[in-house]
Amino acid sequence: MPPLIAQIALDLPVPKLFDYVAPTLTPADTGRRVRVPFGRKELIGVVIRLQTESLHPVHQLKSLSAVLDEAPVLPEEILRLLHFCSEYYHYPLGPTVLAALPLALRKTRIATARTPYCWRITAAGRLAAARLPSRAYAQRALYACLLDGNWHETAELAEISTGCRSTLNDWLTLSWIEQQPVADKTDEVLPTAAAAPPSLNSEQEAALVQIVSELARFRPFLLHGVTGSGKTEVYLHAAQAVLDQGGQVLILVPEINLTPQLIGLFRARFTDTLIAVLHSGMNERERLQHWLAASEGRARIVLGTRLAVFTPLPELALIIVDEEHDSSFYQQENLRYVARDVAILRAQHRACPVVLGSATPSLESWHNAHSGRYKLLSLRNRAIAAAQLPAIRLIDSRTRKSPDGLSPPLADAIQMRLQKNQQSLIFINRRGYAPTLVCRACAWAAACERCSAHLVVHLRARQLRCHHCGYAQAIAQSCPDCGNIDLTPSGLGTQRLEQVLQERFPAARVLRIDRDSTQAKGSWESMQQTIRRGEADILVGTQLLAKGHDFPNLTLVGVIGADNALYSTDFRAAERMFAQLMQVSGRSGRAQYPGEVLIQTEFVDHPLYRALQRHDYAGYAQTLLDERRNAGFPPFIYQAVLRAEALQLADALAFLGLAHNCAPQIPEITLFDPTPAIMPRKANLERALLLVQSPNRRALQGFLSSWTTLLYRLRAAKLRWHMDVDPLEI
Ligand code: ADP
Ligand code: ZN
Ligand code: ZN
Repeated sequence: MPPLIAQIALDLPVPKLFDYVAPTLTPADTGRRVRVPFGRKELIGVVIRLQTESLHPVHQLKSLSAVLDEAPVLPEEILRLLHFCSEYYHYPLGPTVLAALPLALRKTRIATARTPYCWRITAAGRLAAARLPSRAYAQRALYACLLDGNWHETAELAEISTGCRSTLNDWLTLSWIEQQPVADKTDEVLPTAAAAPPSLNSEQEAALVQIVSELARFRPFLLHGVTGSGKTEVYLHAAQAVLDQGGQVLILVPEINLTPQLIGLFRARFTDTLIAVLHSGMNERERLQHWLAASEGRARIVLGTRLAVFTPLPELALIIVDEEHDSSFYQQENLRYVARDVAILRAQHRACPVVLGSATPSLESWHNAHSGRYKLLSLRNRAIAAAQLPAIRLIDSRTRKSPDGLSPPLADAIQMRLQKNQQSLIFINRRGYAPTLVCRACAWAAACERCSAHLVVHLRARQLRCHHCGYAQAIAQSCPDCGNIDLTPSGLGTQRLEQVLQERFPAARVLRIDRDSTQAKGSWESMQQTIRRGEADILVGTQLLAKGHDFPNLTLVGVIGADNALYSTDFRAAERMFAQLMQVSGRSGRAQYPGEVLIQTEFVDHPLYRALQRHDYAGYAQTLLDERRNAGFPPFIYQAVLRAEALQLADALAFLGLAHNCAPQIPEITLFDPTPAIMPRKANLERALLLVQSPNRRALQGFLSSWTTLLYRLRAAKLRWHMDVDPLEI
């Protein structure tokens, strides 16, 4: 019999698998972790395929060092999904597969994919002291430790006695102790007081009926519900229906929305159900435990951010993608994928429904809902009967000027909220004190040496910082060009606005919420508590504040400095800004008090603001879609961008030039000329790109497949390159 050869996925950025001799494996071992020799190191890999032939001479192949775990960690279904992603996004299969595993399983040192257990003494065990052999010191020490009646993890007990495992198993047989998986212990996030679920209103009910009538087959839904319409309640009910039928539910949310509050809501509603939570802020061990609970089918609900889309779920029966328009579903490094799109594919493979929810769907999804590919479900009204959508007023900032940036009508509106003890939120999408430092004498402006970008003034920290590469320096004392010592912070950022508000309203409690003020772990959570308890009067913040939060006492939203999006070079800027403003507007008037939104703008007649005023998502989405159709932009065309980064722009452009020249001739493909990126320099790297597009997705995919094969053969010594399919920006 010829020797069996295993093709192994390794975490190496090359478009191939690696062959090893593997006499003991069978096809049932596909998806299993192995340890293999590689150069002078050992690496963790995953078995992708078994075959009897290799392109290499078999006697030169090495053997696997070890086969890990008791069973495969990645089931066929997930491998298929990863395979597809690797092909569609043109990223090598090895790193794609390895990235789907929790970090702990990618390291050679750490743990097997076995759920860790913890142990606790039973009543019978307490009476058993006399039965321990008197010389068994290790056993006695173990017993003494357990006597405190708490749960103890195996790892902890192993420190007392290395051979504890067999003793523990003996005691378990004797019922002296009990065991449970570590992940199933209730952890830090306690459920908020369990409330009876509200009965659904008729719109919610109608949406739910549609979803549950299609369980057990592939069906994409777009749940378009105005802010505060109670989409979450629809998710909760749909999840309940799936749990009742014995299925697992996967819920994907943007990173920032995965708050203890949301987790608490699910825990309170599903008290008997194990819920796994997966996000990038967890430590390795927690991640592993939750991942195992999900993949072993113990956790019936999985709540996670984009990376959770690849979690194995043996009984998966429903996928929900909340805030589906959110850009945090785009992964922008390594495998560059869109978790929302992968979710749809996964549902298709799995033959289960997938629900995309948003008050401001992406134009891609909206287009799909109107072309019939997705079924549209609408919630037109706010769920709480008394809560109305806020009135939106535009303030012409050309006529209502004020030196500190706060127009009189907005200042009055804030004053009124302070008198009524209600909260205001002022939205400005720029953190820092001022967007840059300028010299009025010679027009010098502080710029980052490593990026083509201005440095932002951070007055608190007395620094100029680059928001693109993290560079920081002390605030310049004089102009390096002309020596002028009177440098001026130019423009408005969150810190300056905070200062302005504090000066205008000295008695008010002003709370700034941006990436800087929430940097410490848990600080955003505690700020949310502060807001909820009514211990802040005015919130100043960036888009962090725009998303998904429910602050019942907030009745005023002010918007400052949103105009930049109107003249951006990015064709998606208007879509993004509209969504952001609609979301942030939606923060006001969510409970019994009516809400109001004031927008300071120089373009009071702009269709974006007019549509916003009418709460007309559908109308504006149509306008944008018409524009996109006429201009030949997505979703009417499919795009991919080949990006190159090098120390010298010429090198990046030269590589793209070669790429351009070697491109296969395929009909329906438009290949543009290489150009420097919109931000040509970032962190000392010069960036250039080459755009390819086609009205035909399949044609584009065919082209990209043959093209990337050629690209790997090009000389690319002094640069990095990657393909970005369905890019978020160009
Ligand atoms: P969305 O996510 O659509 O913006 P939420 O799910 O946050 O809206 O719901 C807004 C508010 O309405 C929440 O306070 C929620 O508890 C409440 N709510 C949702 N559905 C109902 C219902 N059927 N009856 C009463 N209140 C509801
Ligand atoms: Zn100067
Ligand atoms: Zn920089």
